[in-house]
Amino acid sequence: MLEARIPTGPIEQQWDKCRFEMKLVNPANRRKHSIIVVGAGLAGAAAAATLGQQGYHVHCFSYHDTPRRAHSVAAQGGINSAKNYRNDGDSILRLFKDTVKGGDFRAREANVYRLAQISLNIIDQCVAQGVPFAREYGGLLDNRSFGGVQVERTFYARGQTGQQLLLGAYQALEEQIAAGRVTMHTRSELLDVVIVNGRARGIVTRNLATGHIERHVADVVVLATGGYSNVFYLSTNAKASNCTAIWRAHRRGALFGNPCFTQIHPTCIPLSSEHQSKLTLMSESLRNDGRVWVPKKKGETRAAKDIPENERDYYLESRYPSFGNLVPRDVASRNAKEVCDEGRGVGSSGQGVYLDFADAIQRLGLEVVREKYGNLFDIYQRITGEDAYTVPMRIYPAPHYTMGGLWVDYRLMTTIPGLFAGGEANFSDHGANRLGASALMQGLADGYFVLPCTVPDYIASTKLDPVDVSHPAFADAEAEVRNRIKMLLSIKGKRSPDSFHKELGKIMWDECGMARSEAGLKKALARIPWLRDEFWKNLKIVGGEDELNQTLEKANRVSDFLELAELMCLDALQRTESCGGHFRLESQTADGEAKRDDANFSYTAAWEWKGTGQAPALHKEPLVFEHVPLSQRSYK
Ligand SMILES: Cc1cc2nc3c(=O)[nH]c(=O)nc-3n(C[C@H](O)[C@H](O)[C@H](O)COP(=O)(O)OP(=O)(O)OC[C@H]3O[C@@H](n4cnc5c(N)ncnc54)[C@H](O)[C@@H]3O)c2cc1C
Repeated sequence: MLEARIPTGPIEQQWDKCRFEMKLVNPANRRKHSIIVVGAGLAGAAAAATLGQQGYHVHCFSYHDTPRRAHSVAAQGGINSAKNYRNDGDSILRLFKDTVKGGDFRAREANVYRLAQISLNIIDQCVAQGVPFAREYGGLLDNRSFGGVQVERTFYARGQTGQQLLLGAYQALEEQIAAGRVTMHTRSELLDVVIVNGRARGIVTRNLATGHIERHVADVVVLATGGYSNVFYLSTNAKASNCTAIWRAHRRGALFGNPCFTQIHPTCIPLSSEHQSKLTLMSESLRNDGRVWVPKKKGETRAAKDIPENERDYYLESRYPSFGNLVPRDVASRNAKEVCDEGRGVGSSGQGVYLDFADAIQRLGLEVVREKYGNLFDIYQRITGEDAYTVPMRIYPAPHYTMGGLWVDYRLMTTIPGLFAGGEANFSDHGANRLGASALMQGLADGYFVLPCTVPDYIASTKLDPVDVSHPAFADAEAEVRNRIKMLLSIKGKRSPDSFHKELGKIMWDECGMARSEAGLKKALARIPWLRDEFWKNLKIVGGEDELNQTLEKANRVSDFLELAELMCLDALQRTESCGGHFRLESQTADGEAKRDDANFSYTAAWEWKGTGQAPALHKEPLVFEHVPLSQRSYK
């Protein structure tokens, strides 16, 4: 069932070979084909613009009112590329190896190698679009470090890298919209994928402004709908980010890869109140110059400035001398949790560690620090009321990114022929832990470079029957969408979608968050079906279906989170090893690091939906490591 379609031959030549072997569509024939791209974040906008430029009829969908509001806009720190402008020993091979190792050997080598190769083209593409990457005094592009690596390969635009990259992709998209090759459907939410004769041939959407349910047909469907960290309710993702597109595709037959692989980011502003509905990231780039510490004494009550040097524990620097504050995210997050669990956390909740810039300011001067990180310090000031130039920031880990997603082969096609997935929506190239600044790289690699080759190959090599929206499969999918909405509206219970979402998020954070155990996961697996049942009996939605109704939107999304959460826990339960962001308490080394079990778990878990109330089936894609020998990760 799982055919990854990895090209044969030396890994350095696989992508070239694949591109050469793929079929082409004559430019004059391209306008006869239509492609649906769902998502207008970095991955979706890049794919839609590039396929439009090639001459296809592209229909691009987003639930936002403009592509510029996609969650990609929030990315702060940077984007990796093996350009080696620093001449500090970087190369495609090094980026490849760092990424495989950073992902704790749970990613597919061939994809990661291609990603490292394409990383060079991405920077050229974005610079040509006018993306204002930071430059050094002489005019050359500047670089900085991110966690888990020992070279400086991260390109950035202050703390607004995602926004600037998205503006580049958006301009390219707008050009194609103006040229009539891309039709943009904003405020349209995908609620189902339509399968005709085993192939993805369209989608059913709801117009969020009017409530109209619409059918759209195409030759190919691409999902670039982002990640599902909001299953935890509190996360650094945009409030609207959700799993509906990929989950409904999963219910239609697309296998779901590694659902339990989620990333908890170490540098977020700690939760300050019960009523908070969103967490804010402080970019990992801050760990370039900020030093992480906690008091040595448990229950310390003195302010940071009153704690002398010899009573501070710079625990990352002492435990991991080679990488220090730049250890990968999973390692930094786990260590923060550990010192807080020991009672040495800071802030009123005790759930925080310091990120201190005093040394950097002394070494570099206030203006240099302001130049590099000023907007992040401003965000911090606005949220906490504290001035991080004079008082150390307080940070704590929070859900941030999902490495899991729809399983895709080397060509980014899901197990449904004609349904592709790119960006954070697929199970990605990051294995069990994504290194910082690698999501933007992967989203743009998928959108600008991979999908524009593999989607045309699918079109050229497939006999596509003429289909229109009157096909019974569209009527069935639309009926299902309408029934689900009617059911949600008919419950007329007492609880809001948010109250269910919050309760689910707490279960997931407690039992399937930074640390997982058999007992905890079993507890969650007992609780989630109960909560889902309660949702379908006691949900309250105000307003109707044929109008703008944000409560209904939320309810639809929460109903999917309630199903996905169970799959995440099942996946976490079956993987009794620790790896990357998936830390099983039962599987640790003597010094508390994640202990992998390569003999039994060197595979991607790909889950098949078997129907409501049925146990899903687990398929395994074995992972083979020929170029990066399996080893215990060490950042010491
Ligand atoms: C705060 C923050 C900072 C980050 N900083 C960095 C960084 O510095 N470097 C880095 O590499 N990564 C970073 N990341 C991760 C990175 O930003 C994301 O992984 C990446 O931007 C995801 O891009 P995407 O195109 O896959 O999805 P998104 O940008 O999330 O776009 C999803 C699109 O799909 C649409 N959509 C979704 N569902 C539907 C539906 N059902 N119907 C219609 N449309 C739908 C949305 O409207 C949107 O247009 C950060 C993440 C966060 C949360």
